[in-house]
Amino acid sequence: MKMLTLFFIIALSTLSINAQAFTFNNSAKLVFSQDEVLVNVAANCTNLGITNEELLSLVGSAVDNFWNQSPTSRLKLRKGSVVNVAAAFHTGEICVSGTNCDPNPILKVTNDILISCNENTVNFPSTAILGVTIPNNISGSTIQGALVLINDQAGNQFEDKTKNEKISIIAHELGHAFGLGHSKVEDSLMYFMTMSKRVALGRDDIDGISYLYPKQQPKAGCGTVDFDGGTGPNWWSGLFLGFSIIGLSELFRKRKNNTKAI
Ligand SMILES: [Zn+2]
Repeated sequence: MKMLTLFFIIALSTLSINAQAFTFNNSAKLVFSQDEVLVNVAANCTNLGITNEELLSLVGSAVDNFWNQSPTSRLKLRKGSVVNVAAAFHTGEICVSGTNCDPNPILKVTNDILISCNENTVNFPSTAILGVTIPNNISGSTIQGALVLINDQAGNQFEDKTKNEKISIIAHELGHAFGLGHSKVEDSLMYFMTMSKRVALGRDDIDGISYLYPKQQPKAGCGTVDFDGGTGPNWWSGLFLGFSIIGLSELFRKRKNNTKAI
């Protein structure tokens, strides 16, 4: 509950100073410094209704179908592995006491992102709360590690979700883990409620991840020249060049014909 309150307060305060709908899950706009972040899964779920390998597979779909589809951000999330963690990750509170959330140091994630099952009733006062997330290992202005807790209480509602819903729920929590708060745009993964029908990022999600993790234009020479033989952008530039040549030749032919006609 404290975490949710924190997200809500920060979302409101950030909205007041940003025109964008996306928000940050911390006032300092903390981000991972590296371009690739692993998402590991703790081998400690008891009531979630899926195996560790199935959960890891959902993680793979969450990163591939959602966040790694953003064309304008440098961050790439990678499916990690099933790891053994201390029992406290299954039972502990994500925050220690305080007005805002002070991360529980016992649950500090050493590096990257860890998804763990958790049954603590302070973290999850209701089975309707699916997950809580916090970057809980901060160094200077960067995130070293972030923790995602999935509600593993008996009767949890995650268990009854469809596969696509489970994937979008995990993708939503990963958004919090690398620095995003909630979006007020309903048609976005980071909208705080409607996650069930999401199968791709919304415009606002792409704006958010691209703001936090902008893709850099490689510095090479004095301009940007694309040649055939590459991926995406080169293919498009080649196509554009093709159309240009066709257009010019057509124009030249017409001018030639016109000249003849005269
Ligand atoms: Zn959320």
